[in-house]
Amino acid sequence: MIKIAFYDTKPYDIPAFEEYGKQKGIEFKYFESRLSEDTAYLAKGFDGVCVFVNDVVDKKVIDILYSLGIKLLLLRCAGFNNVDVKAAFGKIHIYRVPAYSPYSVAEHAISLLCTCNRRIHKAYNRTRDYNFSLNELTGYDLHDKYIGVVGTGKIGKIFIKICQGFGMHVLAYDKYPDYNLSDVEYVELDELFKRSDFISLHCPLTEENKHMIDKRSIDLMKKGVGIINTSRGALINATDLLKGIKTRKIGFVCLDVYEEEGDIFYSDKSGHILDDDTLRNLLSMPNVLLTSHQAFLTHEALNNIADTTTNNIISFFNNDVLDTEVCYRCGNQENCKKKRKEKCF
Ligand code: NAD
Repeated sequence: MIKIAFYDTKPYDIPAFEEYGKQKGIEFKYFESRLSEDTAYLAKGFDGVCVFVNDVVDKKVIDILYSLGIKLLLLRCAGFNNVDVKAAFGKIHIYRVPAYSPYSVAEHAISLLCTCNRRIHKAYNRTRDYNFSLNELTGYDLHDKYIGVVGTGKIGKIFIKICQGFGMHVLAYDKYPDYNLSDVEYVELDELFKRSDFISLHCPLTEENKHMIDKRSIDLMKKGVGIINTSRGALINATDLLKGIKTRKIGFVCLDVYEEEGDIFYSDKSGHILDDDTLRNLLSMPNVLLTSHQAFLTHEALNNIADTTTNNIISFFNNDVLDTEVCYRCGNQENCKKKRKEKCF
């Protein structure tokens, strides 16, 4: 039986991992703690460790794990910005789940848009309090409106199809446009900002697009614009966003991600005073809807994450070469083993 130490466990992680683990001869030990220097020693005696987006996998942690004989680290997510891949090179093999359900995120984005546009979140609270007034609940028809989609990859494409079902016109911006998409008008980013009634972000966070929504771009937007971000928090400058809401330039904001979410999201802070003034101010606005990085959270996505992760484990012990292994930035670009479909080390 292969034994894996599973960090930062949440109750919703366990059923799918138990099911796929049993099928493939893998035993998981579930730890609530996140992986860090302090908790790395819990992995003693295991064959590998499994982590999520907020576990710390820096050089120190990697060295501790390696000293314990760990040679396998599994990310049960797509991103790996929390892992020092260079430090892992030559020591610990790292695998991820590049895609688990683009539908989950696209459907969450459209749910947020519909909820905020039609003030469903306000109506829900009112009627529970026997307040049946409709004042301030007026929304807009989505039909015939312009939706601006930034990033037309797996999630963006599904989001576009859903919007087209509503009869919306689609403006899009992507560094690498897909001109095979029908009824999509690719435009420059500034033009998208100027012409869109609603803007939804579906691109990765890179050094060049950090704070792509800031004072400058908000100034370009239509008055009353609705902004939806299910991608990465740092795509938006939250302070400028707040100003845009206060000046009534922005009609509504839907966020599933927030730049400083690291120590806040995924946990119950209801008994605490929130130190983050910007987040507290955003949450106090009637036209801001925030979910706690939950866009991925469907049964299908959780099953796909468990299926791919357990396949990664089996393939590692079979010594297979997998596309799901990360690039370690080893610096040997001319002679890249990964490109040659060989094991990096
Ligand atoms: P993808 O790789 O299929 O598509 C990303 C698209 O963005 C590509 O077409 C790419 O060319 C484009 N792109 C890259 N850099 C860009 C830039 N600077 N400006 C505009 N476009 C750019 O990825 P995906 O599966 O569609 O995921 C999109 C994003 O969704 C991810 O990067 C991630 O940040 C986010 N995501 C969020 C959740 C969640 O739970 N909230 C879950 C999964 C993914």
